[in-house]
Amino acid sequence: MTDDLRIVVMKFGGTSVENPAAIRRTAEIVETRRKRGQMPVVVVSAMSKVTDQLLAAAAAAERGDRNGALAISSRLRNRHLDAASALLSQAALTEMRPWLEDQFQALDDLLRGLAAVQELTPRTTDLVASYGERLSSRIIGWYYTECGLNGAHVDARTCILTDDQHGKATPLEAPIEQSLRNHVLPLLRARHIPVLGGFIGSTQAGVTTTLGRGGSDYTGALIGRGLNADSIEIWTDVDGIMTTDPRVCPDALRVKTISFEEAAELAYFGAKVLHPATILPAVQKNIPVWVLNSKDPENNGTQITAVAAHSRTPFKSIAIKRRLTIIDVVASRMLMTHGYLKAIFEVFDRHKCPVDMVSTSEVSVSLTVDSNEKLPAIAAELSRLADVKYEASKALICMVGGNIRGQRGIAAQVFTAIRHVNVRMISQGASEINMSFMIEEEDVEEAVCALHQHFFQDPDPEVFDVASRTAATASTER
Ligand code: ASP
Ligand code: MG
Repeated sequence: MTDDLRIVVMKFGGTSVENPAAIRRTAEIVETRRKRGQMPVVVVSAMSKVTDQLLAAAAAAERGDRNGALAISSRLRNRHLDAASALLSQAALTEMRPWLEDQFQALDDLLRGLAAVQELTPRTTDLVASYGERLSSRIIGWYYTECGLNGAHVDARTCILTDDQHGKATPLEAPIEQSLRNHVLPLLRARHIPVLGGFIGSTQAGVTTTLGRGGSDYTGALIGRGLNADSIEIWTDVDGIMTTDPRVCPDALRVKTISFEEAAELAYFGAKVLHPATILPAVQKNIPVWVLNSKDPENNGTQITAVAAHSRTPFKSIAIKRRLTIIDVVASRMLMTHGYLKAIFEVFDRHKCPVDMVSTSEVSVSLTVDSNEKLPAIAAELSRLADVKYEASKALICMVGGNIRGQRGIAAQVFTAIRHVNVRMISQGASEINMSFMIEEEDVEEAVCALHQHFFQDPDPEVFDVASRTAATASTER
């Protein structure tokens, strides 16, 4: 249906639309795609921090703090009005302003109601949270009309149809495709640039829902899939995925291309670029996804593909997760008895404490968790089952790369590179594309730089941005 159109879904995150200057930058970026002959569909997040503030207002109202809730709303009103005033002409502003006042009138009524009943349901939380994207997308759509981009706002709730699991609704594939065909495709054919809010949706009965925190990437992927887009661009404020944290190891390089599976491993271990589950709808349809930096649009970012490109460098990236605690549960008599591990995990489950890594021996189980204030209570419960010890200030190093599959000697290379560092627990995930181990937090820098030096001293230029390293060396040598 859309094979004749070269659609690019461009999703701009909260920091990419945080103020009028950032919003102007998005318009310039959109224009570059239009000049290339692509047809942009723009998806925007709420302006940075707005969703947090809306949720804080809802929470204040629930506590009965009516004035606190209304004060937050009033600050949000000013911020959006200021942005609109900076971006729009006087004529457009005169048209827009009554709409904006209506929105805040409705939000304030809602907050007053919540404060009166002091009750907040997931359904109402979604309604309050939805204002962030409803406002940002409307203002940006309006601005794109004025700045010559032929923008056309589309209320995402008419397109992103979901079930009624409020707070994290599940999108309905066929109805979404149908409504995109009805509401967005005609605009594209008429050479408009549709602008939609991410994160928000509605049930088929018209009740507002959300896709969960950070859900705008998901909206981008759903729209890309539904419209059969050529590509999806996730615009954020980092250069894409790096070989490791550049603050730890200044030699870190941009990874030009990475597979979905590799990105998924990294996301869990703290590479906070995007949550790959959210781009699954695109990957399933083989639509390439790019992670790009709206503050440095010339940078080519990272491409995420369904199948990994071949790389002669075994690893793609080294992720670091700090502030972990290792818990050792020692019970020589009971360990291998039936139901014992279950009993241990039930303790963590009751405290809603996720476990990162597990290793077992004949007499003990070691687990790692994020250091948190529930640990003493967890340890107390566990000590009814066995002897318990816990040690904080550990870090998990997770090395990811599809090319380690089936390669010999990789583990030996890893542990030789860090032979002077004390390694606690080792695991190789079932996916066979990651190797993880625990070290002392104070050894992170030394270990990561040694590993980076070993594995990325001669990186495959097809996969890593070697050119910028050469450029940087050249300029410091001068
Ligand atoms: N505004 C939403 C949030 O902050 C969704 C998003 O930005 O992706 O969670
Ligand atoms: Mg985000």
